[in-house]
Amino acid sequence: MSDLDDLYQQVILDHNRRPRNRGKLPTANRVAHGDNPSCGDQCSVFLRLEGDRIADITFDGEGCAISQASASVMTTRLKGKSTAEARALFDEFHQIISTGKAPDEFNELAAFAGVHAYPARIKCATLGWHAALDALRERPTSNIQHSTSNVEHPTPSSAKVTKDGANAES
Ligand code: ZN
Repeated sequence: MSDLDDLYQQVILDHNRRPRNRGKLPTANRVAHGDNPSCGDQCSVFLRLEGDRIADITFDGEGCAISQASASVMTTRLKGKSTAEARALFDEFHQIISTGKAPDEFNELAAFAGVHAYPARIKCATLGWHAALDALRERPTSNIQHSTSNVEHPTPSSAKVTKDGANAES
């Protein structure tokens, strides 16, 4: 195993252990859900599109390590990108995982290159990406919160409400 392979292994482990941008995004204006029944993976993607730019993006879901780590990496790569750039990144990612050919220089997307040897896992690796692209195609959802004008205040309940991601650090 080369040092680079080792590094890529770490990327997947790290994103699986500490997923980035995980949880619902209250300010999202686009949302889409992906489901991979062959493995049992679920992934919802929430994003806020401002003009043509992804101002913010999160995912929520459960499933195998590949699906969750891939969705996590995806959010870090798509934040701040335009719709066209997002599609180009997905093409790049899809190319890597379907051929197993990684670029020479380090690229987090290439951490999933090994997936090409396991065609069934390609769906795991692309689940979050497909959900994100679906979300970009969606019509804007004006009222995800199904509330009136006051989305800033979640209904107080007896249960303690902790903000998603507020304590990502452990
Ligand atoms: Zn899976």
